[in-house]
Amino acid sequence: MRPTGPLHLGHLVGALKNWVALQDEYDCVFSIADWHAYMGEYEQSKSLKAYIHEMTIDWLACGLDPDKSILFVQSRVPEHLELQMIFSCITPLGWLERNPTYKEQLREISTRDLQAYGFLGYPVLQAADILLYKASAVPIGEDQLPHLELTREISRRFNHINAVEYFQDCDAILTETPRLLGVDGRKMSKSYNNAINLSDPQGVVLQKVRAMITDPQRVRLNDPGRPDKCNVFDYFKIFSPEQTADVCDWCTQAKKGCTDCKKILSDALMVKLQPLQEKRKALEGNPDTVEDVLRQGEQKARVIAQKTIKEVKDIIF
Ligand code: SF4
Repeated sequence: MRPTGPLHLGHLVGALKNWVALQDEYDCVFSIADWHAYMGEYEQSKSLKAYIHEMTIDWLACGLDPDKSILFVQSRVPEHLELQMIFSCITPLGWLERNPTYKEQLREISTRDLQAYGFLGYPVLQAADILLYKASAVPIGEDQLPHLELTREISRRFNHINAVEYFQDCDAILTETPRLLGVDGRKMSKSYNNAINLSDPQGVVLQKVRAMITDPQRVRLNDPGRPDKCNVFDYFKIFSPEQTADVCDWCTQAKKGCTDCKKILSDALMVKLQPLQEKRKALEGNPDTVEDVLRQGEQKARVIAQKTIKEVKDIIF
């Protein structure tokens, strides 16, 4: 996960919830991918340190457990860059230039100059991130499948060039995640400033929920609404499914107005966020504990990473 700003509800339902569950099934390695963040945000790189600290707090508050999994900062394990260098030498340029996400980001992002050598090669670094730990599986969204395919191609090319069967194919763990839009109805993203953050206090959550776009046909209090056309209802489905029947009733029968409905949603969100925020608060008061988690994670990650790099060098030299 790239540390590019405060974590929001989209991160919680799109990744963290699944990751917490995966910890009981797999030996997990979770990386705070600061080199990947640097590739796109090199002009604001001074913010990375604070984002890394905040992200670690959010991870721990959400239930990632350093006793079960390895949590570490990518740049503190230099072997990532070493393996990236090796893979960079064997990855044909055409594979990277054809990458659909690369092309899309160059097209869509106008606020940052991404026409850089490093950014073109970010799937090579991703391949190194995965293969350094010889991961058998990666939890990703469907949109990231082309990257994983590129990782497979790079690992097969490495094996082919060196006539070895060293790296194995890595599978995707495609967990179904609900689609959660931002409060303005667009994709939830820091860049759109439309996200409810995990650390937002009650007043801010209420303010953001109040700004949510609802069924445009519901203009007056006694106009019946259509929950399936309302983003507020989508939030109820994800965060408070036990209330959806009531919401349908008061909305379609015009028994409650949108202002009341949003207040109820905001309260329901706080029921989910409050326990995380309490854990957050305790961790905020203990920066040394947070740093210890990262230091221990780094040590564990390096043991695996150094072994892989030694083996890879023995193969190529
Ligand atoms: Fe949306 Fe609730 Fe208003 Fe219905 S009552 S349109 S679900 S905010």
